Amino acid sequence: MSHPLTEFELIQQYFSDIGFGAGSSNAVVDLGVGDDCALLSIPPKKRLAVSMDTLLAGRHFPASAQADDIAQRALAVSVSDLAAMGAQPIGFTLALSIPSVDQSWLQKFSQGLRASADYYQIPLIGGDTTQGPLSLTIQVHGLVPQMSCLRRAGARPNDLVFVSGCLGDGAAALELLQNKPTISVAQQEYLLSRFYRPKARIALGQALLGLATAAIDISDGLLADLGHIARASAVGATINSDSLPVSEAAASVLSPDKLQRGALTGGDDYELCFTAGAEHRGKLAEIANKLNVPITAIGSIGVIGNNGVIGNSGVGDRVVCQDAQGNTLEVETAGYQHF
Ligand code: ADP
Ligand code: MG
Repeated sequence: MSHPLTEFELIQQYFSDIGFGAGSSNAVVDLGVGDDCALLSIPPKKRLAVSMDTLLAGRHFPASAQADDIAQRALAVSVSDLAAMGAQPIGFTLALSIPSVDQSWLQKFSQGLRASADYYQIPLIGGDTTQGPLSLTIQVHGLVPQMSCLRRAGARPNDLVFVSGCLGDGAAALELLQNKPTISVAQQEYLLSRFYRPKARIALGQALLGLATAAIDISDGLLADLGHIARASAVGATINSDSLPVSEAAASVLSPDKLQRGALTGGDDYELCFTAGAEHRGKLAEIANKLNVPITAIGSIGVIGNNGVIGNSGVGDRVVCQDAQGNTLEVETAGYQHF
C-alpha cells in the first residue's frame, strides 16, 4: 500500500466483521463496529454481564510475544470472567494502544483475535485505537438468566470444592518461557498453548448454572481465588494438596514442590473453581464427560473457625491446605498482587 493507513482504513481492515463467523447466531447485536456506539438488544428475562481486563506488554505477556498469541490470550482472559458467572458471550469491545501502525503485526493480531472470537462466538462490536505503549483493554458482554448466575457468594458448609482442567500449567509455562528447560516438543506446545491460548470454560460455566453454589475463574492462583469465594460466602475451605489435578507437561518442567506451589498459587490457569453440594457429584461427572473437561473434587467448605480460618493475614486465611495425612501446609504467597 502506497499511503499510510488512515485510522478508518485500519479499523475497516483489521477490526471489522470479527467473531460473526459461521455458526454464530447472534441475535443480540443490532449494530457493531462503525458507528458512534454499538447497539444491543437484551432479551427479556436475561441480565447483561459485563467485565473488563487490561493486558500490558512486559507485565501480562512478554514484550516479544507474537501478535496473534497476545490477541487470543487477551480475549480468553476476559471471556473467562463470563464463564465464571455462567454467562453466554454476546459481544466485546477492544481498546488498543499500539506504538506504530505495523501492518504485519496488525494482520497477525487480527487473525488471532478472529480465531478466538469465532471460537467463543463473540463478535467484536466496537473499540478505540490509539498510539502509545502496547496495551489492550477488552470489555466483554454476556447474558445470564435473570434468575440464576454463578457468583462468588453462595458456598455453604459441607459443599465440595471442585476445579476444572489442570492447575499449575500457567506457572509451568512461565518456567518454560524464562528458563527454557528441555522437554518434548509436544509438551512445550501444550504448555505454550495453555499460556497463550487458554480456553475459557464457557460451556462449563453455563452447565453449572443451578448446580454450583459459587464459582470463580482462577486467574490469580487457586488459594487466592478460592479465598475470594470463601470471603464472599463467609465460610472457610480446606483443600487436599494431594488431590490437585496437574498435567504431565507441568510435572516435567517443575519439581514436585514447585508444581504444588504453582498449582496452589500460580496464576494464569483460567480454570473454574466452584462449590457444589456432594449430591451433585454424579451430575458433575456427566457434565465433565459431555464437555470433555476434567472436573476434580479438591476439598470442602466448612464454617469459619471449624476447618476454615488459620493464620492471620490476607485472603489465604480462609483457605487451609492439607496433605493426605492431614498435615497443614504452609504456603507462602496467596496470589499475585498488583499493588
Ligand atoms: P469515535 O471518534 O466516535 O470514538 P472512532 O474513530 O474511535 O470513533 O471509532 C470509529 C468506529 O470504529 C467506532 O464504531 C468504534 O467502536 C470502532 N473502533 C475503533 N477502534 C476499534 C478497535 N480497535 N476495535 C474495534 N472497533 C474499533
Ligand atoms: Mg473513539
